[in-house]
Amino acid sequence: MTAWTLLAQQPAYFITLVAVLGLLLGSFINVVVHRLPIMLERQWQREAQEVLGLPTGEHERFDLCLPASRCPHCGHSIRAWENIPVLSFLALRGRCSACKHPISSRYPLVEVGCALLSMVVAWHYGAGVTAIALLFFTWSLLALSLIDHDQQILPDVLVLPTLWLGLIVNAFDTVVPLSDALWGAVAGYLSLWTVYWLFKLITGKEGMGYGDFKLLAMVGAWGGWQVLPLTLMLSSVVGAVVGLCLLRLRKHSVGTAIPFGPYLAIAGWIAVLWGDEIYASYLQLLGF
Ligand SMILES: [Zn+2]
Repeated sequence: MTAWTLLAQQPAYFITLVAVLGLLLGSFINVVVHRLPIMLERQWQREAQEVLGLPTGEHERFDLCLPASRCPHCGHSIRAWENIPVLSFLALRGRCSACKHPISSRYPLVEVGCALLSMVVAWHYGAGVTAIALLFFTWSLLALSLIDHDQQILPDVLVLPTLWLGLIVNAFDTVVPLSDALWGAVAGYLSLWTVYWLFKLITGKEGMGYGDFKLLAMVGAWGGWQVLPLTLMLSSVVGAVVGLCLLRLRKHSVGTAIPFGPYLAIAGWIAVLWGDEIYASYLQLLGF
C-alpha cells in the first residue's frame, strides 16, 4: 500500500497531515502579511527615486527570508524553538523570551485559523488533487484578507499568480471546466468594474479599488462564473452587517473606507466550496 492510498482510504490521516501543514503555512502567512506591504512600499519608493533622478542609496536586504525574525520591541533574534506555530507562543506564555514584552495573540490565531480552514478543505474534498489545489486558493485568500484589513491593498503579486493558478488547475477540469473558469475570471472583473464606474459617474466617489475587481476575477477563475452572483450577494450581506455593527460601536463614521476584500474573500471561499449546495437548497426553498 502506498502512502497516497493510505491517505485516500483514511480521511483522518489526510486531515491531520493537512492540519499540520496549515499551521506551518499560517506561520508563513504571518510573515507575508507583515513583510509584503513593507517590501512593496520600499520598491515603490526606489522606483519613484529613480524616476526623479534622486540617489537611491544602499539598503539592507529585506524580503520574506531575510533578515531573520526579531522581537519588534527589543530586537532579540527569534530562535528556531521560539518559532514553532502555536506551541512556542504557549511555551513562552505569549511573551518575548528576552524582554517579556507581550507577543500579539494574532500570530497564533492566524496559525490556528489557517489550520482549521485547511482542514475544512481536506474534509470536504478528501485526499486528492482538488483538495491540494484548493488549499493554495485558501491560503492566498487568507493572506489577502489580512493584508487588505491592515493596509487596504490587495497586492497584484499575490492576486494575479493565484488567478493564473486557478485557470491552470481548471485546465484539467479540477474544480470546474476551463471555459467556466475563463468566463468566471472575465465576468468577475467586469462586474465590479461596471459597478465602480456607475457609482463614480453618479456620486463622483470611488466605492472600491481595482484590487477588488481582480480578487473577484480570481474567485471566478477558481469556481467558475456560476459562483459570482452568490459571492457578491454573500459579501454584500456580510459587509453590510459588519459595517452596521462598526457604526453602532461608533468605531467608524458614515463614509469611512472599509476594505471590501476580506468580505469578498470569505464569500468567494464559501461560494467555491458550497455553492452547489447553497443554490440547490435555495431553489428547493422557492419550490423548484
Ligand atoms: Zn523582546
